[in-house]
Amino acid sequence: MCSIIAYASCKDNDVSSVLLDALSLMEYRGYDSVGIAVLNGSSINVRKGIGNVREVSNKHRFDELVGRVGIGHTRWAAYGHVSNNNAHPHTSCNGKIAIVHNGIIDNYMELREMLKSHKFKSDTDSEVIAHLLEHLISKGYNLKDAMVNTLKLLNGSYAFVALLD
Ligand code: GLU
Repeated sequence: MCSIIAYASCKDNDVSSVLLDALSLMEYRGYDSVGIAVLNGSSINVRKGIGNVREVSNKHRFDELVGRVGIGHTRWAAYGHVSNNNAHPHTSCNGKIAIVHNGIIDNYMELREMLKSHKFKSDTDSEVIAHLLEHLISKGYNLKDAMVNTLKLLNGSYAFVALLD
């Protein structure tokens, strides 16, 4: 069973270490891959990979991501095999939205078909959430309405967090 975490701080630097500590506390739930995304004020930076929290964070230098807001995830693969690309977070085409997701989206194939102009980088059901938000924001929806309408389009059982630049 996976874990998701989001953290906002009033000062720079400590986001990645807090995310890391939180993901470590939730390791007992079981997982196959790990990732974080941190907003540094000008862009969202994602680091992720297969393995345990310490291994992946050391290898991909999670500590280098500085910012005040971040999200993190440990994945238990449901749709899409265990791979670096399928590890969360997943991002929209423009890289301005990152999501972490727990659960399953039953209608993700239909939603991918609806979003066929978008470039998908993983085989997961989860990635469709980032692209749906991007699609709706590009149509003029504000953030709240984009979230509400994304929820209306998703079938399944899930929780997710979205980070927007
Ligand atoms: N369904 C998603 C995936 O396969 C999330 C799995 C989970 O809850 O860890 O990537």
